Amino acid sequence: MLADRLKTLAPSSTLAVQAKARELRRRGIDVISFGAGEPDFDTPERIKNAAIQAMRRGHTKYTEVGGVPELRAAVCAKLKRDNGLTYEPAEVLVSCGAKHTLFNMAVALLDPGDEVLVPSPYWVSYPEQARLVGAVPVPVPTSEATGFDLDPARLRAAVTPRTKVIILNSPNNPTGAVFSPASLAAVAELALERDLFVVSDECYESLTFDGRHASIAALGPEIKARTLVVNTCSKSYAMTGWRIGFAAGPRELIAAMTDVQSQVTSNPSSVAQWAAVEALGGPQDEVARMAAEFDRRRRLIVQGLTALPGVSCVTPKGAFYVFPNVSRLFGRTWPAAGGPATLKSSLDVTAFFLEEARVAVVPGLDFGSDDHVRLSYATSDALITEGLARMAAALERLA
Ligand code: PMP
Ligand code: GLU
Repeated sequence: MLADRLKTLAPSSTLAVQAKARELRRRGIDVISFGAGEPDFDTPERIKNAAIQAMRRGHTKYTEVGGVPELRAAVCAKLKRDNGLTYEPAEVLVSCGAKHTLFNMAVALLDPGDEVLVPSPYWVSYPEQARLVGAVPVPVPTSEATGFDLDPARLRAAVTPRTKVIILNSPNNPTGAVFSPASLAAVAELALERDLFVVSDECYESLTFDGRHASIAALGPEIKARTLVVNTCSKSYAMTGWRIGFAAGPRELIAAMTDVQSQVTSNPSSVAQWAAVEALGGPQDEVARMAAEFDRRRRLIVQGLTALPGVSCVTPKGAFYVFPNVSRLFGRTWPAAGGPATLKSSLDVTAFFLEEARVAVVPGLDFGSDDHVRLSYATSDALITEGLARMAAALERLA
């Protein structure tokens, strides 16, 4: 019954872990979830009020497909203010979350057989979206020894005549890497030399703790002309449920992505768009406040994970994820429900933590590394501390 493209499609494992934790909780099982990455803060009041006002003013109808002019203007002002980038509203598209933005890009830019370089570990949706349109994701490893910084030499070696796009994500989900200025400059050079297009997913920009966030598009007009900058209100403003993501890039590509969107979803929610106008354009102090809180939690969780036997962990520089290496646990055994089991992979370690510690983490395999698991620390200090204690106790029981 189903199309061939579904044969290889994996559902989003980050969302699956979240759903599993929710389901266990519904059954009365007390699970601590370090699953999906979503701020535990509520959307700031000023943003909610803007949405309420928008409803009262009757902004409850279809809007321009790519977003109301006020929102596209607010996106341009944000990109100028935070990134030093100048775009016209016609070079901006607002979509139903950055995930949707990225899929519009895939449909508008990728032909079957086109290769997409994806530095690995990567966010789960990049390869799946590429495959959905018949393109070929090519993972290009980064190394733990450099804190998972981009590896321009490996990227260069992976370029073939079919390579069309490189997807960058800094700060990175799942590793927390903030790519170094030198590596970004080298990738910009490579893109110009080999006629590649760059997609720069900057969704975690506001959560940069060590180093400074830099958009590759700001390195010069030539690279800007072949880069799509992608961002979202989800993380910076605790607005995951509102579904507002946006992109800025070459006019021709934005127009094509807008045409795709016009046939698929039309505009993103009108009310959410007005909330986003306030989010991007209003006072930004709560963004820094939330980031400071995440930074504190980052230290707490890294300290706790590092103390666990058999677990090691690079200190993330941004986003709200840690990506500990659990490969030293491989070979150990535990009394699983179906009989004694040996830990052999990130999936086994994930199952072990869920059953033995009632702690949900995401297997690294889905991000391209079977030696790791991912934890989101966008949760309270109390839950982080309790989760770590449970993991420590479970690890004690390993044979
Ligand atoms: N890019 C990355 C790297 C992400 O982690 C996410 C997940 N939230 C997104 C894009 C999409 O975010 P949203 O669709 O909520 O804007
Ligand atoms: N991006 C977040 C994550 O990686 C939310 C879930 C999703 O969209 O994948 O957990």
